[in-house]
Amino acid sequence: MTFLSGFIAIVGPPNVGKSTLLNEFLGQKIAITSPKPQTTRNRIMGVYNEDDCQMVFIDTPGIHPTRSLLHKSMVGSAKASLGEVDIILLVVGLEEAVYSDDLKIILGALRRAGKPAILAINKIDLIKKERLLPLIESYSKLHCFESIIPISALYGDGFETLRAELKKRLPPGPRFFPPEMRTDKSEEFLIAEIIREKIYHETREELPYSSAVVVERLGEDTEGNLLTIMAVIYVEKASQKGMIIGKNGSMIKRIGREARIEIERIFSLKVYLELFVKVQKKWSSDTRSLRRLGY
Ligand code: GDP
Ligand code: MG
Repeated sequence: MTFLSGFIAIVGPPNVGKSTLLNEFLGQKIAITSPKPQTTRNRIMGVYNEDDCQMVFIDTPGIHPTRSLLHKSMVGSAKASLGEVDIILLVVGLEEAVYSDDLKIILGALRRAGKPAILAINKIDLIKKERLLPLIESYSKLHCFESIIPISALYGDGFETLRAELKKRLPPGPRFFPPEMRTDKSEEFLIAEIIREKIYHETREELPYSSAVVVERLGEDTEGNLLTIMAVIYVEKASQKGMIIGKNGSMIKRIGREARIEIERIFSLKVYLELFVKVQKKWSSDTRSLRRLGY
């Protein structure tokens, strides 16, 4: 039996369900999902294992024109990853994306990368069956895809086919990571991502580009029953700090509670979470602070 393994880049316009797909694939929350576009800043690796294969997924931020330095660092990592992978998995939403600028840019990058590409058309739970065929038809004209698979990342539809299609195209290779390792990200990183996700869900404000979360302390008690976390939410302006704290601290309490529940679920531990908000001016356009915050 030949062991198969490879790196798979998940690319696609913002908000089409890339993170949801990765999470569903791995059966564990790793990438953050959000009703707002462009919340994934980092390359998040997820590892999927079977007895005879290993797939290493990279969840890339959308490839599209850059605005700030932060965007550039996000887009840079997305482009770099395409040249390093064995398979590119392009995820799109429904037809509104067929002729979008985002998609044009991605297809250009796909052609330049010259790697086998599989197209997953996501969110098929939202359309009528008879509209699917014409949709597949129009996507098939855009690029020479190895295969086109309709899926619903939210409901797990089409995953068997997708898994089989990906597996078929894996080259022979080693098990790059031990099977129990499902992500290369530290616990600190996962926790920061969860807190960030809760900030977006709760505030519903334009904070994504101007906030960052850093886990400053993480400790377990001696019995290993309680996880103590101290995290700082960095924002650019005092007004944003006020927004996150909320009236009488109501907002930060909600963010903290939501985050704590999710962290407890993922780590199967009781969690004590302490959150602080600090203003750090212009961090998103300052390379040095970007580097310090791990972007
Ligand atoms: P990303 O920006 O491509 O990583 O997209 P996300 O994974 O963050 O998902 C964006 C939004 O689409 C979230 O609100 C998801 O719950 C939603 N979503 C993802 N997959 C599906 C799906 O198959 N069906 C439906 N109806 N919604 C989905
Ligand atoms: Mg995402």
